[in-house]
Amino acid sequence: MKKVAISACLMGQKCRYDASDNLDTKLLSRLEGEALIPFCPEEYAFGSPRPTMDLVQCEGAIKAISNLTAADLSLPILEYAKNFFETHPDIDLFIGKDRSPSCGVCSARVYDEEKSLLTSQGAGLMAAYAKSLGIESWDAEAY
Ligand code: SF4
Repeated sequence: MKKVAISACLMGQKCRYDASDNLDTKLLSRLEGEALIPFCPEEYAFGSPRPTMDLVQCEGAIKAISNLTAADLSLPILEYAKNFFETHPDIDLFIGKDRSPSCGVCSARVYDEEKSLLTSQGAGLMAAYAKSLGIESWDAEAY
């Protein structure tokens, strides 16, 4: 049995920015029999509903910037990720929601400071953390 870290919204948790979910029954049946460990850094840090954020490359780093206040929201997301992987050091597989600035694995949009699109194949902050630990990581749609 694999230990799978999975975006909670894919399991039906209403933790998206608009308090809806991304329930993916096809994905869940594919993962049947595995140990699923849901996570949602944004709901933990900011609640649901919440203002949206975008990834912005600035000062050599990729940051999560609030679309409402322009504040840098990266730190609470990264702290959540660090704590999650310290609590679950034996994760075999990471499955993140496509295009999310926290969870997208190879599908997150990254902008420059003028809001021009740099790439739509970036990694969200929690997904980047999982990849930095060497954990096999997939966007839900690709998996
Ligand atoms: S994509 Fe990630 S941060 Fe966004 S609602 Fe789903 S689990 Fe939470």
